[in-house]
Amino acid sequence: MDQSHIRNFSIIAHIDHGKSTLADRILELTDTVEKREMKAQILDSMDLEQERGITIKLNAVQLTYTALNGEEYLFHLIDTPGHVDFSYEVSRSLAACEGAVLVVDAAQGVEAQTLANVYLALDNDLEIVPVINKIDLPSAQPDVVKKEIEDIIGLDCSNAPMISAKSGLNVRDVLEAIVAMVPPPKGDVHAPLQALVFDSLYDPYRGVIAFVSIKQGSVAVGDRIRFMASHAEYEVLEVGIRNPKEVKKDVLRCGEVGWITAAIKDISDVHVGDTITNAASPADQALPGYRRMNPMVYCGLYPIDNAKYNDLRDALEKLKLNDASLQFEPETSQALGFGFRCGFLGLLHMDVIQERIEREYNINLIATSPSVIYHVYLTDGTMIQVDNPAFLPEPQKTDHIEEPYVRAQIMVPNDFVGAVMELCQKKRGIYQDMQVIDDNRMNILYEMPLGEIIFDFFDRLKSCTKGYASLDYELSEYKESNLVKMDILLNGEIVDALSIIVHRDFAYHRGNQMTQKLKDLIPKHQFEIPVQAAIGGKIIARTNIKSLRKNVLAKCYGGDISRKKKLLEKQKEGKKRMKSVGSVEIPQEAFMAVLSMD
Ligand code: GDP
Ligand code: MG
Repeated sequence: MDQSHIRNFSIIAHIDHGKSTLADRILELTDTVEKREMKAQILDSMDLEQERGITIKLNAVQLTYTALNGEEYLFHLIDTPGHVDFSYEVSRSLAACEGAVLVVDAAQGVEAQTLANVYLALDNDLEIVPVINKIDLPSAQPDVVKKEIEDIIGLDCSNAPMISAKSGLNVRDVLEAIVAMVPPPKGDVHAPLQALVFDSLYDPYRGVIAFVSIKQGSVAVGDRIRFMASHAEYEVLEVGIRNPKEVKKDVLRCGEVGWITAAIKDISDVHVGDTITNAASPADQALPGYRRMNPMVYCGLYPIDNAKYNDLRDALEKLKLNDASLQFEPETSQALGFGFRCGFLGLLHMDVIQERIEREYNINLIATSPSVIYHVYLTDGTMIQVDNPAFLPEPQKTDHIEEPYVRAQIMVPNDFVGAVMELCQKKRGIYQDMQVIDDNRMNILYEMPLGEIIFDFFDRLKSCTKGYASLDYELSEYKESNLVKMDILLNGEIVDALSIIVHRDFAYHRGNQMTQKLKDLIPKHQFEIPVQAAIGGKIIARTNIKSLRKNVLAKCYGGDISRKKKLLEKQKEGKKRMKSVGSVEIPQEAFMAVLSMD
């Protein structure tokens, strides 16, 4: 197909505004997917995505569209995730496109992540096509929302398609707007190959599958290619596209988005953001790489079964392959044994990785409570970075500690401004500014410790605003705080994996809550277990878990053996998620107890 008839675009939106639904309609309307094969949210292929209704991994699909002018166009649609944790993935997929369809819910209007995504699109010089969705809803106010987009973002919305992605109403207008507004890819098909690697995955039979956007030149089966960052060279075995099924081709040309395999077994040769060129006639320069995203939240992951340590390493390596923002290194805990300290973009990212390891790799895990990176200035003048509370140096050796702050912007209806400010204040937020968005909504700006945001801030924000608030944040700077390490002792012994870093002013309160919480979460044993919280050896809170008296089998009145078996079976099941630490069995939830405290 003539390059001038190619359109590469992403769909961006605040979560739940209808990206995935619109993508489904576009696939139907272009007959890319037969009606009978159509299932809702077909691009969200990972089980986890379908279950949670979120999009985690980006996905690229080729489709053909016959426009109203009678001409045929080749579209590459790249779906992007909508959650704040995954903005790295959004920026990766955007770099493969020339345009972005901005979906805004006609009942909700512009939200914090609408803005965040628009900024990412503008960073990548993309043409933005605004689309008003869900106009079928009784509460839809398309004209108000149009004006909002014009006022807040500065995009002309006079011709913006007004659609219902659910019913399919006016979806064709979106395709026409893409043809009219998104520029075709620029590069020269005769120039040396430059293919941007924007995603990759590992197939046990074919090796690494690299997803590429061909920015210049072409690549064919049999070509010798070179990865410009890693210098690795391979012979291309297969190239192809997805529609969304995999379709093999002989060649991928400038402007196309597809995949390449080359029997690449060494996954470290392929970096997302790298440029592939032709080894025989290489390009002078690599394409500009991606903005690297650094993890903001760390936790320890430990296999419940110690024998699965190597399997866990394997799983993390495979997951890292198409998730460059995931980091990990070996770590040992006195309580939990051998595991890995892992870095994530945020709590949802952490949750998703954990769940994928358990489901796709069949490894049961204990995850320790999340931590940010602290900058600890020692009395000898040096600074060390600490991402694990257990390794915080002694107070005598510490001069002062700094913690990361974020700039948070919270969009909220006027009625909830008071509640939001109270919450932010409680989470040690520093008020910055407040902007009027329109008659009904405000944008509240706070600087807040990241360490407070990762602990259930988002849930609390949602509940104190009946779900109406939206949040976006970015790292601002490190600031000094009066922080201390709080240890937890079970049966008189410190359990290193339960240590947390807290602000001194909240230490007693947290200590009390934490010991109470653990008392509820840890099952009774044959003996009484003291639960204590301590700072620098001084006990600040304590409670006891009473000893077990009842025998579970007593309920069965001796008789029914199969019922007895079932009960024992059930008990065993319940134990799977337990880790023995010393003589105490601790359930997974205990390590997360800190997440649900005031
Ligand atoms: P995403 O998070 O942006 O991918 O949003 P989804 O496509 O998953 O949609 C979120 C929810 O909004 C789903 O329950 C959809 O069925 C619903 N939805 C999407 N488009 C429309 C629409 O045009 N009208 C109505 N009433 N609901 C819609
Ligand atoms: Mg979605």
